Amino acid sequence: MLLTAACAGQPAGDGTSPATLRAKMVDEQLKARDISDKRVLEALGKVPRHEFVPKEWRASAYQDRPLPIGQGQTISQPYIVALMTQLAAPKAGQRVLEVGTGSGYQAAVLAELAAEVYTIELLGELAEEAKTRLKRLGYRLEPAPDSAPQADKERRGRIRVKTGDGYLGWPDAAPFDAIVVTCGAEHVPEPLFEQLKPGGRMVIPVGKTLADQVLKVITKGPKGERQERDVTAVRFVPLRRAGKGKD
Ligand code: SAH
Repeated sequence: MLLTAACAGQPAGDGTSPATLRAKMVDEQLKARDISDKRVLEALGKVPRHEFVPKEWRASAYQDRPLPIGQGQTISQPYIVALMTQLAAPKAGQRVLEVGTGSGYQAAVLAELAAEVYTIELLGELAEEAKTRLKRLGYRLEPAPDSAPQADKERRGRIRVKTGDGYLGWPDAAPFDAIVVTCGAEHVPEPLFEQLKPGGRMVIPVGKTLADQVLKVITKGPKGERQERDVTAVRFVPLRRAGKGKD
C-alpha cells in the first residue's frame, strides 16, 4: 500500500484526481452495497474526504477502511458514514446533532443534507482542528445574520462545533430531527433520547465491549414512544465521559 504523503490534488500519488477516486468509492463501496438514498450518494460524492485525514494518510483517503485522525481517534470507513447518514435520513430544513466531531467529515456530509448541524467533540484540540478545516473548505460555521440569504450557493447547512461531553447532548439547540453518535456507548444516553423530536431518529453504536458493539436505530414516535432496532455489528472508538473515562 502506498502511504507516502501525496499533495492535496493527487491523493492516489499516481495522478488520479480526488474526484475520480471519490466517484469510484461511491460506485464500488456504497452503491454496490446497500446505500441507495440518492442524496446520501451525492453527499459522499461531493465532500473531499482527503481533506479530513492527516497528510500521511491522504493516499488512502478513498479506501474502504477507517483511518487514524490523531489523538487515538479514527474517521470511519466511507460505507459506515454513508450507512449512518442513510439511517438518520436528515431532510432539507432539518436540525441534526452529531456526537463525536473527530475530523468533521461526518458533520460535513450531514451539512450537505440538513439545514443545521450541531456537533460536539470531547477533545478540544480535535474540535478546533475540525472548525478550522470546515471553515477553510467553505462550510458556514456561524449563524448567518437574519438578512443573509437562507442558503449559500452550494445549499449546504450551517455547522456549529463545540467542545464538550456529547453524552449530555446540546440542550440549548434541542430538539433534533436526527442524532448521529459516532463513538461507541455502553447504553443509549437518556439526555440524547430526550432531545430527539417526536418522529425523530437516533443512530448509535451500543455495546459493553468493542466485540459486541451493534449499530442501533432508535426512533421516537409521535407520542414519544421508543422503538429500537439493530442494524449491523460495528467497531467505534468508545464514548468517554468528561472527567470520568469510558462511559
Ligand atoms: N465523526 C468523526 C469520527 C469520530 S471518532 C469523523 O467524521 O471524523 C469518535 C470521536 O468521538 C472522537 O473524536 C472522540 O474524541 C469523540 N468522543 C468520545 N467521547 C465523546 C463524548 N462524550 N462527547 C463528544 N465526543 C466524544
